[in-house]
Amino acid sequence: MINLQEHIQDRIADVQHAAESWTPQRTLTWAFENFGNTVAISSAFGAEGMVLIDMASRVRKDFRLFTIDTEFLFPETYNLMDRIEEKYGIAIEKVCSVLSPEEQERAHGATLWTRHPDLCCNLRKVEPLRRKLGELGAWITSIRRDQTSIRSSARRVEWDAKFGLVKINPIVDWSSKQVWRYIHDHDVPYNALHDQDYPSIGCTHCTRAVRPGEDPRAGRWPGFAKTECGLHIIEIETLPAAEQSKVAKLGN
Ligand code: SF4
Repeated sequence: MINLQEHIQDRIADVQHAAESWTPQRTLTWAFENFGNTVAISSAFGAEGMVLIDMASRVRKDFRLFTIDTEFLFPETYNLMDRIEEKYGIAIEKVCSVLSPEEQERAHGATLWTRHPDLCCNLRKVEPLRRKLGELGAWITSIRRDQTSIRSSARRVEWDAKFGLVKINPIVDWSSKQVWRYIHDHDVPYNALHDQDYPSIGCTHCTRAVRPGEDPRAGRWPGFAKTECGLHIIEIETLPAAEQSKVAKLGN
């Protein structure tokens, strides 16, 4: 007997090829029609995320939007969240780590991000994401293929084997130029830091402005080879045992 996950994976395989020629708007319509209230946009409110949020608002008024709040975000990012809620009339679902910043410091020492950024990202981003995705049937992301080598093989609609749900990437084939053209053409709000040479924005501790000629993601985790926070690549099993058990209790 075929189980539900296998059935969904088969359906995804059926639409995957055709989906590559869909517009972002058609992709969003398909997502909302097929997954209803069990699909949500995941965003950290970069330029790409803002495009997606604006497009979604034109397809469905009450779409779901969540963010992983590391509690280390820039004031400009929190300000943008307020503007989004007001402009689009939605409540952003904010998901935080099981550890407050103070608890993390007690458990792992001060400034963990300077010594072990993968662990810090795992605690503050990946585990909360896994918890959130556990309540969804599909998630919508704003990744683009040309952002990092890891993202270069992303499909517009795919099965996310790591988290066990459908992953939908409506603007996966867009360029940065297309993103900014949409923002200006549609008067979409964006993070004020983009105008101060921050093309990619994460936590205050791990983001700096880029210098002329640098890669757009050079300002993320400067000094480390790391280019991804792990939302698209890492596993919960890499968490220390104490946090794994705390997470397990949350899930009960
Ligand atoms: S981006 Fe930096 S501060 Fe934020 S969760 Fe990752 S390592 Fe920690």
